[in-house]
Amino acid sequence: MFKKLNILDEKDPHLRKISKDAKLPLSKEYKDTIDQIIKELTYSQIEEYEKKYDLRPGMGLAFPQLGINERIIVIVHEYEDGKFNNYVFVNPKIVSYSTEMIAAEAGEGCLSVNREVEGHIKRYARVTVEGFDVDGNKIKVRAREELSIAFQHEIDHLNGILFYDKIDKNKPFYTNDEIRLI
Ligand code: ZN
Repeated sequence: MFKKLNILDEKDPHLRKISKDAKLPLSKEYKDTIDQIIKELTYSQIEEYEKKYDLRPGMGLAFPQLGINERIIVIVHEYEDGKFNNYVFVNPKIVSYSTEMIAAEAGEGCLSVNREVEGHIKRYARVTVEGFDVDGNKIKVRAREELSIAFQHEIDHLNGILFYDKIDKNKPFYTNDEIRLI
């Protein structure tokens, strides 16, 4: 049986709080929640299941979006057609980043924002993220392009930031000469 997650809407105050570090190792309950998130994010990116379960496509989710203000993020990245890598980071930190900036040309979406928000969000083209796995082992990843944007978007959730906060109201769109659009 597939049970859908209860993802909070942008108006919920949990999304505006600064989350606390999670205690490691994670509880069985949290591990189960993570498995459920991975399943739902994966399904949401496979057309057949997306339709079947009426899911909105998404590649990332942060615990505050479930009403839990602890620093845990999950990303399911389709790196090749139909092939996915899962990233579960507890207490993640961006430890280095590129000087080059990029933006998603089509803008960003969020499973907590149920409306279209237009505009480009400046992000680092590459980031190195350190954190812990669910058992408390140190982990590290170098992310680029779309995956780099996903990490920055999800880590922002842990600090109460939503993607549209970062859209410049005076200049919501960039050209490719100003910033590399991907
Ligand atoms: Zn989001």
